[in-house]
Amino acid sequence: MRTFSIVWVGAFVLAILVGCSANPYSKTNRDHKKQAREFARELKAFPQQHLDDTLINYGPYPVGTTNFSLRKPNYVILHHTAQNSVEHTLNTFTLPRTSVSSHYVIGKDGDIYQMLNDYYRGWHAGAGKWGNNTDLNSSSIGIELDNNGFEPFAELQMESLLELLKVLKERHSIPTANFIGHSDIAPSRKVDPNPTFPWGRLAEEGFGYWYDEIEANPKVVGDSIVPSEAIREIEIAGNEIHQGGSASDSIHLTIDPKLALRVIGYDVSDLDAAIKAFKLHFIQKDINSELTDEDLKILYNLYLKYL
Ligand SMILES: [Zn+2]
Repeated sequence: MRTFSIVWVGAFVLAILVGCSANPYSKTNRDHKKQAREFARELKAFPQQHLDDTLINYGPYPVGTTNFSLRKPNYVILHHTAQNSVEHTLNTFTLPRTSVSSHYVIGKDGDIYQMLNDYYRGWHAGAGKWGNNTDLNSSSIGIELDNNGFEPFAELQMESLLELLKVLKERHSIPTANFIGHSDIAPSRKVDPNPTFPWGRLAEEGFGYWYDEIEANPKVVGDSIVPSEAIREIEIAGNEIHQGGSASDSIHLTIDPKLALRVIGYDVSDLDAAIKAFKLHFIQKDINSELTDEDLKILYNLYLKYL
């Protein structure tokens, strides 16, 4: 009898251990499903009239349209985790008190953990602005890359990221321009992903824009006259002019960095922070609030792509 119960206890413990090793997050997965069921109930609520809507002059009966679908994310925002392991991040994103999450987390080994359905609102962007969009959490998918904040991004991680971006871009028809970094939307608060992040490589694959190699492949065209106190002049050599012009010609362009940054999408209410964020993404060295002539050429080249 005693042997019998020991065997049963042993089997029970083994079952728990196997269950745990299969998925250490089975408990939080159950909590996740419970929350999702509550949101599904909210989505089904129709008509959505509440007692506090008494000032709204609704018609005499609700009319549900037959033509609709789910809202889609339109941006992808990339982050580094600034933590020391992917396990650490998965744990952080399953603790209610942290109030942070992202849709995907990618380990250095290339493993992709999906933590949230693309259609839900993750908590990764926080306060920020891009163009006139001030609720990026509602319109974006967040991807966190396991990285301590300073190191280069692992090759397997980059390969997995590119595969994932391809799927997301197709699935949700996300525009090329809308693959951006956390620092882009929150210039005064965030510095991720770190300056080693290969934005140029992403742009080659159709995720975000990158500037043309100005010396080798001139694309700077025309001139831009912007009335503002902040105008800066740049001189473009003749061989950098796209149309006409001989090698000896040069053209003066006027560029308002504030306007150009705003056209790209940056929040320029703190111009120094916006310039730093721009340099973190596109220059990736000497990340300060000074724009050199070379930086201005790159800014001009990019802003034409976003126009
Ligand atoms: Zn971030």
